[in-house]
Amino acid sequence: MATFTSLGISSRLEEVLKQQGIYEPTPVQEQTIPQLLEGEDVIAQAQTGTGKTLAFVLPILDQLQEEGEGPQALIVTPTRELALQITSELNNLAEHLSGVHTLAIYGGQDIQGQLKKLNKRVNIVVATPGRLLDHLRRGTISLSDVSMFVLDEADQMLQFGFMPEIKEIIKQLPVRRQTMLFSATIPDEVRALANKYMINPRNVKVKGSDTTLAGIKQMVIETTDREKQDKLKTVLDQFRPFLAVIFCRTKRRAAKLNAALQSDGYLSDELHGDLSQARREKAMKRFREMKTQFLVATDVAARGLDVEGVTHVINYDIPEDTESYIHRIGRTGRAGSEGLAITFVAPKDRKYLQAIERDLKGKIKRKEL
Ligand code: ADP
Ligand code: MG
Repeated sequence: MATFTSLGISSRLEEVLKQQGIYEPTPVQEQTIPQLLEGEDVIAQAQTGTGKTLAFVLPILDQLQEEGEGPQALIVTPTRELALQITSELNNLAEHLSGVHTLAIYGGQDIQGQLKKLNKRVNIVVATPGRLLDHLRRGTISLSDVSMFVLDEADQMLQFGFMPEIKEIIKQLPVRRQTMLFSATIPDEVRALANKYMINPRNVKVKGSDTTLAGIKQMVIETTDREKQDKLKTVLDQFRPFLAVIFCRTKRRAAKLNAALQSDGYLSDELHGDLSQARREKAMKRFREMKTQFLVATDVAARGLDVEGVTHVINYDIPEDTESYIHRIGRTGRAGSEGLAITFVAPKDRKYLQAIERDLKGKIKRKEL
């Protein structure tokens, strides 16, 4: 059995991980950390929930140099939620280490505050592409000391149309650097980007089946659009989720469903792109603190949402492809704990269900209420 130190991680860092209940590396960590500590470029493909964040965070922490002015590591990630999440993972570890200063840079957040923090000594920057480019164009951040560059969730970057921004950012990085690319899937355009900007990258691919979906029980509930809301309430009453994320297809549907749940007395809240940044952060915070029990969300807003204790994911509206299905249900059963994923299927959704079942190579159990 591999341990973090056997992969080359410092015993200091391993101790800190143990204090957080993390004892053994996951497969993607096992297969990338040794190369990353050698300073090699790595392209790692592994599903959501497999521990990709620590796979790059740990080598970064162990490779930070004491001296140096500007940021040494730059992590670019597609959404503010992910940026905040990575930052908080970094801070949890950094608390027990000395000399690690992380800054999150993302849109919707007060730029003056960011500027002030940038003036302090920061060695790790976690950023979304747009806001980082703002800073680069204003000359308020310099990337000339960056020796480690991470492109996190590269397939989502592509999906959100961030490729031009990414290229512009890369052009401002020192040529001598280590580049790490992490993604659930590697579409052609991501591969092309890697070929262009990485040096002899080592390819790591972790098979999906024994990772994300392993701890997740899946079921399908057949319904009609008209019955859906009542069936959902039945599900909530019967299954009594501790914490559940409920996915809707659109912002409007999420807002509407949340209002209906709230008016029936359910402890629910909404998370989607029509809300202000402050409002979204508040929704996530309250959910994390278990002040709300149900979070009604759209795909984009819930990307990367990693909340401990999510016992149920409910696809109120079925996702239209297998990848988002996996992303969504990956919100539960994270790293070893059991989760339940329930998907509502109306007659017109059957084709999507068939495609998902074909891709996952198995039929999902039907459940009668
Ligand atoms: P990904 O980026 O692959 O979707 P994350 O890095 O967000 O996944 O990790 C998913 C969850 O697994 C997080 O809650 C993280 O703290 C946890 N985790 C990561 N590595 C380990 C490990 N080695 N042991 C236990 N839990 C882990
Ligand atoms: Mg991730």
